[in-house]
Amino acid sequence: MSKHSRIVKQFIDLVTIDSESGKERDIADYLLSLFEELGIEAYEDGTAEITGHSAGNIIAKIPGNSKGTPIFFTSHMDTVVPGNNIKPIIKDGYIYSDGKTILGADDKAGIAGIIETIHQLKEDAIDHDDIYIVLTSGEETGLVGSGAFQEDLPVQYGYALDSNGEIGKIISAAPSQARMSFVIKGKSSHAGVSPEKGISAITMAAKAISKMPLGRIDAETTANIGSFEGKGPTNIVCDQVSIIAEARSLNQDKLEKQIQAMEEAIMEVTEKMGGAAEIDKKQMYYAYSYTESDAVVKTAMQAVTNLGRKAEVQPSGGGSDANHFNRKGLPTINLGVGYEFIHTKQERIALSELELIPSLIKEIIKLANSK
Ligand SMILES: [Zn+2]
Repeated sequence: MSKHSRIVKQFIDLVTIDSESGKERDIADYLLSLFEELGIEAYEDGTAEITGHSAGNIIAKIPGNSKGTPIFFTSHMDTVVPGNNIKPIIKDGYIYSDGKTILGADDKAGIAGIIETIHQLKEDAIDHDDIYIVLTSGEETGLVGSGAFQEDLPVQYGYALDSNGEIGKIISAAPSQARMSFVIKGKSSHAGVSPEKGISAITMAAKAISKMPLGRIDAETTANIGSFEGKGPTNIVCDQVSIIAEARSLNQDKLEKQIQAMEEAIMEVTEKMGGAAEIDKKQMYYAYSYTESDAVVKTAMQAVTNLGRKAEVQPSGGGSDANHFNRKGLPTINLGVGYEFIHTKQERIALSELELIPSLIKEIIKLANSK
């Protein structure tokens, strides 16, 4: 059997195991027994109890036979919805779903790449230092698996194999994200008989939002309102509106400034109009940023060059498990693995990209060993 058909078969095995976020039990069990078959020491951490998901994170170790730089790779086991009963179809050099579901290449392409690499390391007798693998649960539901991750990984740096874009794309920076919830409270009154006795929460919310900086704030910062809920009959002045919003920035100070601007808009209007507001905010994850002189980026760039591709180093507007690993002191960047149109039923991956993932991982491993 050629290497090509082995990774494709592996990929298909993985995507046909249902693993929508929260329901990672089956794929975790599959992977634990696969690692055992491959002779790789692996275990599941205890984070399922914290996250409430049906599986925790899986940690595996490929012991080194050489002294270099110990590194790690990470991918996530969960998928977005609709991710049950996926029927992969190979057509025109791509793998698609049948159009009724996502494909789940995000992020099973990364997992398939790691598994294929394990085969090839052995077959090609490649020297390497210790390699750790972390397969997370709950990436798609706010990075909860990596957020709860507490294992001590004795590594220098690592890679999340979890970005769209062709192999060669290197996400050297990713933003912090904060989520905010605003409950604006007014006062109800009969809208026809005594509107002056009421305070409209909808009016306050609309005024506050019109004062908020939103959308693209600057090259590093964005903000968005995702939900606005205020409802009642037309003859009553609406007394409550709930707003859910987010802000992101590559720069923590700018993020905090943005959050403050949004809070102030709410406070100013509610105070002026005699209403009240409950504000809740939470930093979901923290930004990371590396330059081309940092080992984690340099190694990835050289690996891409060794494959005959052009390294495209760029920041991302989105977070990934890499954000949490960085926060825990493990320099981690995210790499493009070739999947496209993720989180849609049109999701696909080119066979040629899927086949190249293990080569990318092997080049990184070889470079880490030569350090
Ligand atoms: Zn992903």
